[in-house]
This record gives sequence, structure tokens and C-alpha cells, in this order.
Amino acid sequence: MARRRLFTPGPTEVPWQVREKMSRPLIHHRTDEYRKIQGETIEGLQWLMRTKNPVLLLTCSGTGAMEASLVNLTRPGDQVLVTVVGKFSNRWKEIAEAYGLDVVAVEARWGDPVSPRDVAAALDANPDVKIVFTTHAETSTGVLQDVKTMTQLAHKHGALIVVDAITSLCAEEVETDAWGLDVVIGGAQKGVMIPPGLAFLTVSDAAREGMERAGHPVYYFDLVRALKSYEQGDTPWTPGIASVVGLHESLAMLKAEGLENVKARHAANARATRAAVQALGLELLASAPANCTTPVVFGEGRADTVRKHLNDVYGLRVAGGQAQLKGKIVRIGHLGHYFEADMLMLMSAFESTLKDLGMVDSVGRGVEAMFGEYHQK
Ligand SMILES: *Cc1c(COP(=O)(O)O)cnc(C)c1O
Repeated sequence: MARRRLFTPGPTEVPWQVREKMSRPLIHHRTDEYRKIQGETIEGLQWLMRTKNPVLLLTCSGTGAMEASLVNLTRPGDQVLVTVVGKFSNRWKEIAEAYGLDVVAVEARWGDPVSPRDVAAALDANPDVKIVFTTHAETSTGVLQDVKTMTQLAHKHGALIVVDAITSLCAEEVETDAWGLDVVIGGAQKGVMIPPGLAFLTVSDAAREGMERAGHPVYYFDLVRALKSYEQGDTPWTPGIASVVGLHESLAMLKAEGLENVKARHAANARATRAAVQALGLELLASAPANCTTPVVFGEGRADTVRKHLNDVYGLRVAGGQAQLKGKIVRIGHLGHYFEADMLMLMSAFESTLKDLGMVDSVGRGVEAMFGEYHQK
């Protein structure tokens, strides 16, 4: 069987250094040894997320942190604004509706970001909006949204902003303090390269005040309680010890590479992938492409044939379309531990797949374009 590798925008590949640390004998969480690791991990997240705000660690996938932020910041009936441009941003709408909120949705075609002008107009038309919940990189369409401008609009309106940065962290500029982001959410199995099961979020002073004033009935995800534990260097419940140990290592790797280099590598991988896809005569979905994934448009049914062949014959797994894009796109992931050689390897297998399926006449055009993009002077 071929060596199996993930080229999906979550879960992403876990580097061997991280796996090695996570496989060591478990330590207890109420010890100085663990507290030191957790403290350094939180400092590492503050470095990554460009903030001095507290960063809370939650034992759940990214969606848990989305729900936690919403439940703690709102009361039933509150009016909130969400931007819907794909499956993940639509999740904000679904969570808000599940909690009985009055939801104002600003939408765009799947493949585009929302226009800040539409957000401004929606805020003007809805003076009661208390919080804006948005998605920085929409992973289902590979689109990047203008969070910086949306934050200015939200704050001018007197609203807080909560940002799902789950697939933008490591891959894009995320300036939590400089942009004034109130809550920024990250997840394990994306840019920080650990297995799923951990999420984290930043809490600004204004968000903390909001949580102390508002809130639905909540227990496990009581973030006011979590903030109190945080001040003691603790978590209210048993933390995901192995995940935190893994994150400690992956953050050390990212620090050694340097944040600017990490972001530049993601941007280069994304640019090179787009160049290769276009050289193959295929269509890109995203009008404002993010660096986490490159969705490629295929005719109905063909996307999944390509994915299956790439996986079954070459051992490489890429993602497919979700919801209304199911069966119509292939999403090549390049978020996480992927370097030039990884992308060249993926592209040569991708082209080989297209050749095997009779969709191109020769192999090499994509790799050549990709190489050219990496080595542009
Ligand atoms: C992966 C992802 C999430 C969280 O999904 P989980 O399956 O709960 O980890 C949320 N938002 C975006 C944009 C994502 O890519």
C-alpha cells in the first residue's frame, strides 16, 4: 500500500517531532511540570496570535470554542450579525439560531468574501446588533475575508467582534491586538499541526466584561470560570494533557522557523498551487484566495473520482466539496507542515491522476508552473 499522507485543510499532517512528544508517558496536570508546559504553551499562542490577552485552552474541536464564545457573550433574543460565505461561516448562523438569537446574516456567493460595504449597511439597518461573528478564512471555499475592516465597522457600531481564525492562524496576518479583535478562535488540527481535540481562544477586556454581564446558562464551557482558573495557571477541568504537550512542541517548531517565515511559506505554497492549477487549465473557485487551501472546480461527479484515484493509487488524501459544493470541487490543503518538496510531490501525483483518468494528455505542466512560481526571481 502507498504511504498515506494528508493534504487536507484539517486535519493536517502531524510532524514526527510532535508525535514523539505526545507518545511519551503521560504527566499529571496538577503538577509544576505540567503547569510549566501549559504556561509556555499559552505564551506561545499569545506570540502566534499577536496578543497580550488571556488565551483559554478548551478540550474540544474548534466548533466547541465557537459555541463557547457565543454562549458566554449573548443572552436569548440578542441581535447578532454573521457573515455567511460557506459551510463554516454558516455554522455561526446555526449556533446562533440554536440559542434563540436574532440573527442578521450578510451573505455572499460561495467563492467570494462578504463585502465590508454590505456589513456596514447591515449594521446601519440593525442598530441593536451586539456582536459580529465572522470567519477569517472560509475553509469550504478557500476564501479570505477582510476581518480588519469588519472590526473597525463593528467597533464603530459599539459591537464586539468574534473571529474564527481556525484556518488563518499560521497562514495569514492575524493581528489580535493591533486590529482590536475581541475574541479570536484557533483549533488544533489546522495550522498548529496537532491531532484534533483542542481549541483555544483569546479574550479582550471588553469581551470579558461582556461575558461577566451576559451569558446563557452554561457549565462546561463557562468562560468566566475558565478565566478565573487561568489567573491561577489552571483550567477548571482536566485539560487535554497530551494535546497541550504536542502544541508546546509545535509552537516551538513554529518559533524556530519564525512567524514571518511561516506565513511566507504558506503564501508561497498557495501561490504555487494556484499557478499549477491554472497551468493545467482548471478553474479556481475563490475570488479572494486564502492560504489554507486551494479549491479546484471540476464538472459534476469528476471531483470525487479525482480524489478517490489520488487516494487509492497514490496514497494522498485531498478534501472534497461540502454542502452545495459537494462533488464539485477538490480542495488541495497546504495549511500546516508542508514545504516546497511536499507540494511538488502532491502536484506530480495530482497530474498523474488526471493523466490516468484521461483528463490531460501529459504530466508535467503543473509541476513546471509550480516550480516556476517557487523560483521566481
Ligand atoms: C475546521 C474548522 C472549524 C472547526 O471545525 P471542527 O471540526 O469543530 O474542528 C471551524 N471553522 C473553520 C473555518 C474551520 O476550517
